[in-house]
Amino acid sequence: MDLSLTASELKFRDELRAWLKNNLPPKGAHALNAAHSAADFHGQIKDWQRKLFEGGYAGIAWPKEFGGRGATFIEQAIFQEEMALADTPETATIGQSLVGPTIIAVGSEAQKKRFLPGILSGQEVWCQGFSEPNAGSDLASLQTKATLDGDHFVINGQKIWTSFAHFADLCLLIVRTDSAAAKHKGITCLLVDMKSPGITVRPLKMMSGDSEFNEVFFSNLRVPVDRMLGKVNEGWNVAITALSNERANLGIGLYVAFKRNLDAVVEQARTLRRHGRPIIEDPVLRQKLAQAYVDLEVFRLNTARGLSTLNKTGVPGPEGSIQKLYWSELNQRNAQIAMEVLGPYGQLTDFDGGRCVYNYLRSRGNTIEAGTSEVQRNIIAQRVLGLPRSY
Ligand SMILES: Cc1cc2nc3c(=O)[nH]c(=O)nc-3n(C[C@H](O)[C@H](O)[C@H](O)COP(=O)(O)OP(=O)(O)OC[C@H]3O[C@@H](n4cnc5c(N)ncnc54)[C@H](O)[C@@H]3O)c2cc1C
Repeated sequence: MDLSLTASELKFRDELRAWLKNNLPPKGAHALNAAHSAADFHGQIKDWQRKLFEGGYAGIAWPKEFGGRGATFIEQAIFQEEMALADTPETATIGQSLVGPTIIAVGSEAQKKRFLPGILSGQEVWCQGFSEPNAGSDLASLQTKATLDGDHFVINGQKIWTSFAHFADLCLLIVRTDSAAAKHKGITCLLVDMKSPGITVRPLKMMSGDSEFNEVFFSNLRVPVDRMLGKVNEGWNVAITALSNERANLGIGLYVAFKRNLDAVVEQARTLRRHGRPIIEDPVLRQKLAQAYVDLEVFRLNTARGLSTLNKTGVPGPEGSIQKLYWSELNQRNAQIAMEVLGPYGQLTDFDGGRCVYNYLRSRGNTIEAGTSEVQRNIIAQRVLGLPRSY
């Protein structure tokens, strides 16, 4: 496998580097944990996304006809890598990586025209209303109900763990439209305006201290029929398209952030002392740091392999589950090693700006969000290895 960049990929990277140099906002609070409030974070996401859009760097691999740059998936990966290297502010990821590609795949022409520009320009931030209190891994058991009343669906029920719902403008929502049908057959996907009457959002606190996700309640919410994405009762396939895009996209660009964290830990292990000698001389921790480096290299090379497949097929396949499983567990292991290296320092928020303790606490959610590790293993077993279903 030749991992070197082609001349045009190098040109793309160099132009992007130059653009970032001139356009990166001054360093400040840009992680959700460091933002003063959800409103601040919302503003930061929108401002940065608008800047990228104006610079021609929104929707890198989206087709040109839908406002994207029409670049390859390799160039999209270069973009994400450069963003991570420059430690840029966050972007509106749910809209660009999950909702947009799903609307492009199954949306009507009117829906593409209405929603894609707002995703690219950052004017409209999206959330994903899939999970419910009794429907997570077994998502098809969802109970939020939609009944047809003239030219509107009337929605009643509850979603949970809905990331960014407290400041999202729109939601990709899946609801039950036929309770008598087999559970995968009676689901419909809707594009919902979060400011509509009938929606109540209650933020939930995570153990990292953030309120990143929410409970969302629907009481007689009216959604026009033309906001249906795909066909009635065929929303399961739409949901799978969205989830495949989510899993394929989440890991790209993470290598740089993980490598930065590991480099910082190695540096701290050189300077901090325990039992009268530098921590780096502790033979057990040296073993763990070396293993962490090896794991990161495996992740980097596997990402390149996944990208090369994606570049050929254009469609994220079940292999995205391999990456999701690998990076989420790797990040937890490395966050644990960082805490072991730092010892009590790791718990001080004024030691490294609280980065280490935040990473440790936030990484716990990595093996749950976008499908748990067990669910990823089931997908790999069934859809990659062709093994029989486990349930
Ligand atoms: C940080 C974070 C952000 C999230 N953001 C969103 C969001 O924006 N939108 C959204 O809709 N959801 C979101 N979620 C929810 C997430 O998708 C669900 O939590 C996840 O799918 C698991 O569902 P559950 O919590 O109901 O757990 P359950 O499905 O109840 O699982 C409980 C345990 O049982 C295991 N298990 C379940 N079924 C099987 C099986 N068949 N085989 C083996 N083991 C099994 C699971 O792996 C898990 O360990 C988020 C979650 C987190 C942590």
